[in-house]
Amino acid sequence: MLQLVLHFTLIMLTATEMTDSGWIDKEEEKYHLNLRSRTEAEDGTFNLEEKEVIWEPRKTAFIICDMWDKHWCKSANRRVGELAGPMNEIIKEVRKQGSLIIHAPSSVTSFYEDTPQRQKARQAAFVKTPKPLSTSQRWGTAWCWPDETREEALPIDDSDMGCDCAVKCEIRDAWTRQIASIEIAPDDAITDNGQETFNLLAQHEIENVVLLGVHLNMCVLGRPFGIRQMVQQGKNVVLMRDMTDTMYNPEMEPQVSHVEGTELVIAHIEKYWCPSFASSDLTGKPAFSFK
Ligand SMILES: [Zn+2]
Repeated sequence: MLQLVLHFTLIMLTATEMTDSGWIDKEEEKYHLNLRSRTEAEDGTFNLEEKEVIWEPRKTAFIICDMWDKHWCKSANRRVGELAGPMNEIIKEVRKQGSLIIHAPSSVTSFYEDTPQRQKARQAAFVKTPKPLSTSQRWGTAWCWPDETREEALPIDDSDMGCDCAVKCEIRDAWTRQIASIEIAPDDAITDNGQETFNLLAQHEIENVVLLGVHLNMCVLGRPFGIRQMVQQGKNVVLMRDMTDTMYNPEMEPQVSHVEGTELVIAHIEKYWCPSFASSDLTGKPAFSFK
């Protein structure tokens, strides 16, 4: 009898292990994330540190920054197209776990004017932010500029706006909506507004905010729902580091490849703003990389 019970237990354990592969900890229904950060040592160098956190999906929001349907730069446009499919798969899973999904296609939320998802963001009750939201403006929304009290200059020169195409693209507002391959589900929200974002987070009792999307050196940092503003408002902010891209032209300083340029900006964020994790912590699959 004892043998039978043991045997049965073993079968059960095997079954649990099998269902546990991939997504999250099914029994606890929590995210186990390996957060990577860089802390400054006394000699001014930075040490890479990793620590595991366990987060409740329902207290976690995923904010998708500026994954537009079209970008003025052809290379940037191609990379967004490549990123969107895998991003959608990740979003589908965390949505199933109960996390709040906020789609933030800046300056084109009017495309979604009458949708329930846009209404949901608009109708969330006003909650005063711990600190005043930035009132600076850039590119159609409020903007958080680099904070000299907390961060060094960005490690890449994006003053040319970062087109890395052989024939330089003309800068224009090419976007009209979020890229269609990222699905917007009934319980998601749509906003590019800092106050609305904060209201939504309060309404859903969100403590943890995951940022993903583009472009890391510009909008993911600076937008009113972006890393700088969310950190300043006291949220636990993290960057999903393989679900992002930069605007960086390797002809500009420090003259490294586009991918290395993005890695430098990720390191900048890990030093001065918030930790990062790779999507593999959620999927159990290798992290995304551009072809
Ligand atoms: Zn270009």
